Amino acid sequence: MKVLLIEDTMTSATLVRHQLAKIGLTSLYAPNGPTGIDIFLREKPDLVLLDVIMPGMDGFEVARKLRQLEQAGEWTPIIFLTARTSDEDLRRGIEVGGDDYLVKPISEVVLGAKIRAMQRIAQMRYSLLVLTRKLDEANQELTRLSGVDGLTGIPNRRRFDDTLMREWKRAARSESEIALLAADVDCFKQYNDSLGHQAGDDCLKAVARCLQGQLRRPTDLVARYGGEEFFVILPETCRSGALQVAEGLRQGVEGLQMPHGRSTAGPVVTISIGVAVQRASPALEGGVFALLKAADQALYQAKRGGRNRVALAS
Ligand code: GH3
Ligand code: MG
Ligand code: MG
Ligand code: MG
Repeated sequence: MKVLLIEDTMTSATLVRHQLAKIGLTSLYAPNGPTGIDIFLREKPDLVLLDVIMPGMDGFEVARKLRQLEQAGEWTPIIFLTARTSDEDLRRGIEVGGDDYLVKPISEVVLGAKIRAMQRIAQMRYSLLVLTRKLDEANQELTRLSGVDGLTGIPNRRRFDDTLMREWKRAARSESEIALLAADVDCFKQYNDSLGHQAGDDCLKAVARCLQGQLRRPTDLVARYGGEEFFVILPETCRSGALQVAEGLRQGVEGLQMPHGRSTAGPVVTISIGVAVQRASPALEGGVFALLKAADQALYQAKRGGRNRVALAS
């Protein structure tokens, strides 16, 4: 445990540091408020012992500053050291963010006991923080396992991977055609940069809703693969059918008429789509990965060709 002592009187400081050392605690020392604040920011102590009466910036002011400087969720216990003992001083000390009070001359036993009490509270707070973080992680994992994308509410990458594998195997058994569309929002970085992340998120939600609304067959699936990239699986769909669906999706998003002042593809938000179609077969080793790669390459072609367009894998 690292203790920061802010105290202007040398003799008093020496005594307290000596007492701290006896309890086995290392201490940092500042002879005035501003220096104390600097050390606080740099060293992030676990506890602050703060003299009240100091020339220039007094202890109350320092405490208020320290509380302002703490990040959300952070808390460093502050114990005031003072010869003052009036009720009003105590009230003020707690109000500006102090946690306890020690009256000078400081008893070694009381100092040790109060530090231990603060340590206990700090420990509990830390455990709570760890627990909260674990809970957050568990929630994220649950969302992932649920197969639903947290932002847009459409299937996520995990659901997409599972579905694609299953549909590919099904197509292979019946030796039927399966189409895969890779769609990506055009110049989305600029959209975010000019309108902000919140507007970007809203845009992704609108695009997802639009794509999902366009699909007709119950076996079709659109998923958010990540960022501003979407994949569409169209089982039992031939080349012309897939191109037709892709063109419908492209027009659908353009039709949303979401203004985009910094796109090279037009005045509104648009998407580019790469289309890959394959007749599946059990003999096609790694066919599903070739299909993914082909859709991705076609998307790249659509981007290179000027965006806001559909390209078919060669
Ligand atoms: P291109 O037309 O070539 O696709 O260019 P682009 O700017 O769309 O593509 P790039 O990959 O350079 O940038 C994608 C940007 O998408 C980066 C990031 O700012 C944004 N983005 C990714 N995920 C999210 C998200 O969940 N929310 C928001 N608001 N933005 C995201
Ligand atoms: Mg003093
Ligand atoms: Mg993009
Ligand atoms: Mg992208």
